[in-house]
Amino acid sequence: MSRFWSPAIQSLVPYTPGEQPKVDGLIKLNTNENPYPPAPGVEAVLRNFSSERLRLYPDPDCQALKHALAEDAGLATNQVFVGNGSDEVLALTFMALLRQPKPLLLPETSYSFYNVYIDLFGINAQHIPLTADFRIELCDYCGENGGIIFANPNAPTSVSVDLDSIRALLERNTDSVVVVDEAYVDFGAESATQLINQFPNLLVIQTFSKSRSLAGMRVGFAFGHPDLIEALERVKNSFNSYPLDMLAQLTAIAAVEDKEYFKACVSRVIETRNWTTEQLQRLGFDVLPSHTNFVFASHAEVAAADLMQYLRDNKILVRHFTKPGIDNHLRITIGTPEEMKALIDCLQLHPEL
Ligand SMILES: *Cc1c(COP(=O)(O)O)cnc(C)c1O
Repeated sequence: MSRFWSPAIQSLVPYTPGEQPKVDGLIKLNTNENPYPPAPGVEAVLRNFSSERLRLYPDPDCQALKHALAEDAGLATNQVFVGNGSDEVLALTFMALLRQPKPLLLPETSYSFYNVYIDLFGINAQHIPLTADFRIELCDYCGENGGIIFANPNAPTSVSVDLDSIRALLERNTDSVVVVDEAYVDFGAESATQLINQFPNLLVIQTFSKSRSLAGMRVGFAFGHPDLIEALERVKNSFNSYPLDMLAQLTAIAAVEDKEYFKACVSRVIETRNWTTEQLQRLGFDVLPSHTNFVFASHAEVAAADLMQYLRDNKILVRHFTKPGIDNHLRITIGTPEEMKALIDCLQLHPEL
């Protein structure tokens, strides 16, 4: 801390991302990255890109990328917003739409970045507990509010809510924005994107980081009514006109265009997730029903913190949260079949399992 800091920064508690260690031979199952490379078209874009083009600024409006996303989702280009990772899209959403006099409703256990934005922007928020079986119960989101945000499927729990519950929420909650963070939706949940044309207060946020294997490129996007998108554009253009560089725009387009590769990757991850779930259950773990590229598991006899350390000592990284209520769970990213076999083999050698 320093006396030169702006006053509001002195009390800021930033988000802590999962570590990116520079150690060789680690099996990295701690940040929900995709184990497979991006679509072959991405490689082609990078190989054929002439550095001479970098002289110029990129398209500030990302028109070609918005067009590709709109086409893929069956929406119009003015219903699409793109940003530097969905973390940036979320930040702009909190700033542009969720800073309201009435409280923002959100799950008590969810993506912890939401609470960082709440503090950063001084948002009045009300946290709603999950059910005993770690589900989001949308019937509980019924109080007076200035907005609602939740992740579907939720993180770090991996559990999803169905589209009928989201539709029911939107039918009764018509006076504030409902934001659905669908970072993991491609791994088996139902997307609320198909409700965009019916509900002018619905904003759906997705990312290229997980199902499209482009975490390193930082591309996220939102679908919603043109009025909601315009609010995001206003804030974006008051902050940074060029959040997506040329390569991010071009590689993202290539990733959207290869639907076959995308589907094949996602189904491989789902298949490995199902195998991993069965194996963990065989070892006595309780595994929540996942619609994501990770599982959330706990063991009745061995503490999660000890298991995390044991795996770490064996060069396997998984994520453990110290938050009460979920501090006896491990969040394990689904890697390749070989990586997951190594995880199961390692757990099998644990003296108490
Ligand atoms: C990974 C993740 C994000 C952020 O993704 P980026 O696009 O990489 O910024 C947002 N929300 C949830 C719930 C996530 O797990």
